[in-house]
Amino acid sequence: MTDYELIRSKRRSLELRVLDDGRVQVRAPLRASLRMVQAFVDSRRQWIADQQHRQASRPRQRWQDGAAFPFRGQPLTMDVSAGRNGVAVSGSYLQIRVPEPDSEPAVRQVLENWLRKQARTLFEDSIARQFPWFASQGYSQPVLRVKKMRTRWGSLSARGYINLNMALLHYPPAALDYVVMHELCHLQHMDHGPGFHALMDARMPDWRQRKQLLEQPLFQP
Ligand SMILES: [Zn+2]
Repeated sequence: MTDYELIRSKRRSLELRVLDDGRVQVRAPLRASLRMVQAFVDSRRQWIADQQHRQASRPRQRWQDGAAFPFRGQPLTMDVSAGRNGVAVSGSYLQIRVPEPDSEPAVRQVLENWLRKQARTLFEDSIARQFPWFASQGYSQPVLRVKKMRTRWGSLSARGYINLNMALLHYPPAALDYVVMHELCHLQHMDHGPGFHALMDARMPDWRQRKQLLEQPLFQP
């Protein structure tokens, strides 16, 4: 029998989720009977097993002393020790101070907070360097939103936001600048047609090489 966590809420249908760590959650309407929930889980047993297998076979980031952590294309190693929360790059090490150095969730949290701040600074910098030409064409600067996204590196919304994936920080700066340029070019061309590619070629002639840097998946956070 499959173990699962049941979360009831005001909703109409049953929903099944397999979390990154393989745990199973069922979201159910307030009044759904346990028997109904169990039958639902049983009917999806093969799907659950397939999802769990997929999760388990992915390369996974560890959040502990000695774990690899690529940052801006550099293969850093985590150096975790007890102390007040703080993160710093020192040579080939990422020094992480946290009150509970043996707790992976605690290490992950302090590191992700740091990463989010780094993302904001470095993404803003990339936009500031690449936006002036677009400003000269009369476009207004999109507002940055730093996101965790599973399936895309970035997007540009018609409402004036540029969304960038925090995971870009693992890749070399040249790759980050490529994604920012790609999204900025969508100010002029919303699709990926010939006009878009001509603009990319004009603004960033080596964009194809830069794009290749992103094709190697480093890990799934
Ligand atoms: Zn695009």
